[in-house]
Amino acid sequence: MVEQEVDWLIAGSGAAGMTGAVAANQLGGTVLLVEKNPVYGGTTAKSGGVIWIPGNHRQPAAGISDSIEEGYTYLKGLIGDSVADARLRAYAQRAPEMLEFMMEHSHIHYTPLPNYMDYYEHVPGYKQGGRSMDSAPFNMRKLGRAGGSMRRGHYKGLMMPFNVTVVEGMRLQRMDMGAYLLGLKLLLRYMLDIPARLKRQEDNRVTLGPALVARLRRSMMDRDIPMWLDSPMKELIVEDGRVCGALISHQGQDIRVKARRGVLLATGGFSHNVELRQQFQQAPTGSDWTAAAPGATGDGIIMGQKIGAELGFMGSAWWSPTFTMPDGRTVALISGKSYPSSIMVNKQGKRFANEAQPYEDLIKEQYASETRGEGAIPCFLIFDAKFRSKYSAGHLKPGKIEDDKKIPQDTLDSGLLTIAPTLKALAQKLGIDTPTLLDTVARFNENARQGVDPEFGRGSTEHDRYYADMTVSPNPTLGPLEQGPFYALRCDPGDLDTKGGLLCDEHGRVTNTDGEVIPGLYAAGNTSAAVMGDTYPGAGATIGSAMTFAYIAAQHAFGELSRSDAA
Ligand SMILES: Cc1cc2nc3c(=O)[nH]c(=O)nc-3n(C[C@H](O)[C@H](O)[C@H](O)COP(=O)(O)OP(=O)(O)OC[C@H]3O[C@@H](n4cnc5c(N)ncnc54)[C@H](O)[C@@H]3O)c2cc1C
Repeated sequence: MVEQEVDWLIAGSGAAGMTGAVAANQLGGTVLLVEKNPVYGGTTAKSGGVIWIPGNHRQPAAGISDSIEEGYTYLKGLIGDSVADARLRAYAQRAPEMLEFMMEHSHIHYTPLPNYMDYYEHVPGYKQGGRSMDSAPFNMRKLGRAGGSMRRGHYKGLMMPFNVTVVEGMRLQRMDMGAYLLGLKLLLRYMLDIPARLKRQEDNRVTLGPALVARLRRSMMDRDIPMWLDSPMKELIVEDGRVCGALISHQGQDIRVKARRGVLLATGGFSHNVELRQQFQQAPTGSDWTAAAPGATGDGIIMGQKIGAELGFMGSAWWSPTFTMPDGRTVALISGKSYPSSIMVNKQGKRFANEAQPYEDLIKEQYASETRGEGAIPCFLIFDAKFRSKYSAGHLKPGKIEDDKKIPQDTLDSGLLTIAPTLKALAQKLGIDTPTLLDTVARFNENARQGVDPEFGRGSTEHDRYYADMTVSPNPTLGPLEQGPFYALRCDPGDLDTKGGLLCDEHGRVTNTDGEVIPGLYAAGNTSAAVMGDTYPGAGATIGSAMTFAYIAAQHAFGELSRSDAA
């Protein structure tokens, strides 16, 4: 069997894997990163790319006051003792350190989003903005041929032909003159990039998760860090109780790669592994509703478990409503669930939650409604013609009634979208309890006109009002559903990936079922049991923690190297 030797071997080319690669290389190690798919980027490349970093070095320039201690207070207040205190402290202290290090030593570039608030304002240490951060766009030309093997195209054709940053997306939603001019500028730039469009038919200026992935990939290329595509890690090699490498399938042969300083498992979660989901997660479950990339089949978790690793939070996921397009793409519904003149209902025709609350909590409520026997899976986002004319719902752009004719037939035939002239007809088409739905909407409308939601308190927090229509008062998330036709978008209890996995210590080292460290084995990202526990503190908490613990792991492995070299 062919043998190779490096200092640091990484499985997985998402945010965790590539951050671990750049950090280890900067610290002096030789690195090999292997990716099982023919394309790199994982779920990170499908994501918004937002990172959540309390007390980060970019906040003062944006006029935001924050600190490591406040970040820790917020995490502790939210997560409590369900995660080891040392890990929470490690996150609070080292996430800002990671960001500064990576901005200095790689192409990644982040700016605080001053209005993107933490998700729970009742928790001490909460901030109204500035911890969630937006990636700078990136020109794919700078990747040369390597750009061709990056996972792309997720959002293509859903809304706009060009890519937007988080800030641009929010500005465009305002639908005022500024938004119009920005849209025009972005469209013009896209249209004028003729060579790129002729070649790939995609916007060369990538934003969000693709920008993060492209920036990390460029950083790896600058450092000549090899990335083997189509090369799954199959099994860990253990000698004398220490993980000293792994077996990689590469170009038709098995290669034994020895890793002097350790192996970093960064293979994402297990959202596409039906067996693991059924073993650990609440029913009904499966792999159809996840928006994660297909590589998330739990490989790293299984490899770790085989050598005795302890697992944590396997019942949890980064929950989010999703819907599945007729072509099979599953799309997360993060922003379109809380605009005025819409509600979410179960089969009984009842609302079951505050639709504007954080997506993770909404899905927990959806499962609770299902458990009560109310038929909440799937549920329906119901909206009226006024909503339709102003806001997007999932993949559906704002449009007039005449535009309904342009809706592809398979969108209707698949049951993804249902349209009817009256609410009664809509309920009948969907098989929803008609009198209850009419009663739900009548009550909701009466309260919405006053700007209140006595049942669920929608619009009562800063977070609820983030994805809302600020031109609507007194409550920017509330408005009556009264103008036909009426629409229903079918929504599932999906996720952005799972968050359970290998239990690690504060250095990113995997621990075994006796609570001892497994020497030489590290995990980060969704392969590890989330440092955020069963919570979602704010936008970017998943990529923020993936990058932070990959960085911490590299620092630990190579910190040891420098110490032993000096001795
Ligand atoms: C639509 C959407 C939007 C999101 N937006 C955000 C956001 O803005 N901010 C945020 O924090 N989170 C967001 N998330 C969640 C976030 O994208 C993920 O939690 C995060 O990217 C996971 O990173 P990772 O490095 O752990 O795994 P991934 O990015 O999934 O990378 C894992 C890689 O490992 C590879 N792999 C698997 N098995 C093997 C093996 N045996 N050998 C080698 N390679 C292997 C996979 O193919 C994959 O490429 C979003 C998710 C979605 C779907």
